[in-house]
Amino acid sequence: MASLEENIRLTGNPISSGLVMGRAFVYREQEPAVASPHEIKKHQVADELARVENAMEAVRKHLKTSSRRIEADANAKLAKIFEAHEVMLGDPALRKEIAGLVEEELVDGAQALERVFSRWERKLRAQEDENQRNAADDVADLKQRSLRELTGVKATPLEKIPNGIVLVARRLLPSDTVALPRRAVAGIVVDFAGQGSHVALLAEALGIPTVGGIRDVTDRIDEGSTLIVDGFRGEVVLNPDPAARKRCQAEIQACRSKSVRKQQSARETARTQDGTTISVLANVGGREDVSAAGDNGADGVGLYRIEQHYLSLKTPPSKADLVTHLRETFAPLSQKPITIRLLDLGGDKPLPFLRLPAEEDPFLGRRGVRLLLHYPDLLDTQLEALLEFSQDHDVRILIPMVTVADDVVAVRKRLTHVAEQVKHKTLPPLGAMVETPAAALSVGELANHADFLSIGTNDLTQYTMAAGRENPLVNDYFIEDHPAVMRLVGMVAQEAGTTPVGICGELARQIAAVPRLLQLGIRTLSVAPPLVPDVKEAIREILLERAQ
Ligand code: PEP
Ligand code: MG
Repeated sequence: MASLEENIRLTGNPISSGLVMGRAFVYREQEPAVASPHEIKKHQVADELARVENAMEAVRKHLKTSSRRIEADANAKLAKIFEAHEVMLGDPALRKEIAGLVEEELVDGAQALERVFSRWERKLRAQEDENQRNAADDVADLKQRSLRELTGVKATPLEKIPNGIVLVARRLLPSDTVALPRRAVAGIVVDFAGQGSHVALLAEALGIPTVGGIRDVTDRIDEGSTLIVDGFRGEVVLNPDPAARKRCQAEIQACRSKSVRKQQSARETARTQDGTTISVLANVGGREDVSAAGDNGADGVGLYRIEQHYLSLKTPPSKADLVTHLRETFAPLSQKPITIRLLDLGGDKPLPFLRLPAEEDPFLGRRGVRLLLHYPDLLDTQLEALLEFSQDHDVRILIPMVTVADDVVAVRKRLTHVAEQVKHKTLPPLGAMVETPAAALSVGELANHADFLSIGTNDLTQYTMAAGRENPLVNDYFIEDHPAVMRLVGMVAQEAGTTPVGICGELARQIAAVPRLLQLGIRTLSVAPPLVPDVKEAIREILLERAQ
């Protein structure tokens, strides 16, 4: 029973650092209302199976959207969770069990989902291993999502929570965490949550102070009561008295001043101890990221993934549409250098309005520039729009998934042709992504044709290590700082001659790898906007002569 007593200390575990005071919003999970179990007739089996199949397919689509959205929000680890959910949902054993119940026991679809997912969840929950127990949350989440789809209940109540509250919950499932509006939640207090849990990943990415491991928390805290959430110490103070509130406010102020200092120095150029200037740019997917890049002191945009815009469209955009979109998107950083990558589609990213043929092995198929050269209209519209945009912006164009120098030659030919048609004399720099071992190993040739190079370590790792970046089964082989990958990075930096080389893959955000990357000769790093201050701070501590 909740209490009015003051200064009640609830001790848990620190999940995400930070200190905050706010009013409690107590979230109680709502199980989707499943009609009481009923037997279906034999002739209804096919329809019932189709209903289940449709619901699971809809969930699979949502998972794809969630993982893209989260990835754009700079949380690749969290995005991987949704990718893993997709794999789990397609597990033939799971599908077989569900279909078996419907076909053989004539159980209705909702009951079949409920029973099978619950059985899997119980099995995982009973495991010793923490990772396995975290996987039980994944199954619980898939159950909720599938049942919501089947019963037509779409939204979670978390989408409507008031701003600035402290969210108190027994447990937050991954899909709950994506539903949380970015700025609404000031703090989080949960019963079930460990360091590696989904809620921990999300809270860290968004900088939300979080405490976990407080038993029966939803029974002990009343809606609307005041809480201090101390994510440094892993402690919550319920109903703080005026003295405790004052102390907390002073501490919050001190934390803010420290982060303001870091934020301010982020606006200054990053130089190593021995005075080498390093450009720290931002990877962005949309206008919100561009604003965040500006707020975090990015020296410009190192990678704009234009496909994120295309994927939201139902019809191909015109040149004018694209120019308007670019102007709106980059308004917050219009004075800085902006690197825009041409559409990188195929592989894992199909386009809604383009019917691409199914490929046996899409990651080794017609991806990136290969696809663009096959659909010249798609390429030309982008080039025309970029040429126009470059009239009043410092634009660089980046070609995705280059394997051979001819890829660059072909795109430059189109760029020159388009420019002649619209009578533009000055062309923006044209760069190549180095994402394949072939590109890295023939960098000298590539550098003869490209104005700059940007190493995409995400794909470079996948192709070098022969481990799919989307495939959780080979996660252990996807080693971004493996000596093989580092060697290729070093080779590109050394053999590119005077052609500038940067890194825009996830490796650039690994603070521990930054000294080595600089030592290999890299002078431009592009990372998710919230990481710019940390990367700049790390650079300032490096003495290049000594960096290992
Ligand atoms: C990369 O492959 O490292 C990269 C930056 O491109 P994307 O992640 O968009 O494939
Ligand atoms: Mg890539």
